[in-house]
Amino acid sequence: MKFTYSVKVRKDGIARVARDMVPKEKFLEHMFGRREIVKRSMSTPCWEWTGCRNKRGYGTVMFQGKVWRTSRLAWFLAKGHHPGNMEVCHQCDNPPCFNPEHLFLGTHSDNMENAASKSRLVSHKGEDHGCAKLTEIDVKEIRRLYVPRTNSRHVLAKRFNVSHNTIWMIANKRMWRHVD
Ligand SMILES: [Zn+2]
Repeated sequence: MKFTYSVKVRKDGIARVARDMVPKEKFLEHMFGRREIVKRSMSTPCWEWTGCRNKRGYGTVMFQGKVWRTSRLAWFLAKGHHPGNMEVCHQCDNPPCFNPEHLFLGTHSDNMENAASKSRLVSHKGEDHGCAKLTEIDVKEIRRLYVPRTNSRHVLAKRFNVSHNTIWMIANKRMWRHVD
């Protein structure tokens, strides 16, 4: 795939290639040139961004004069509509991944609750990034099934593939408070 890059000459005479001038329809393909295809737990591989990353590990890229998270931009380009107020979350819990198949939209409050729980779980490997994987149906099911010591948080954590702290927080309404 070939792109036409626009070249801007700054006042100091330095020519700069404006990579973000690649048209919207082509930009995702342009991003393919900067991915590492990595097989992880998902059925399809992760596309890890090889360019800049922010402190939390998310890829960042300039597009139309703005810095975007690569996951958010990939979602926008692949789906064709802007995520707006919604957060683009990772099913694969892999922040640098921008494979649109691994991305889904969550609400800001889901993400804030998720972030709040994550801050208490920083020492738990694999849980310090990404967004909530559970649905409201899962949350209701967890609350229905949870019985301390019998159907304990450890049992449910395994079943729903989340941490036991997450189960505890859901059962005690520290998370997903908006779900009855
Ligand atoms: Zn992924």
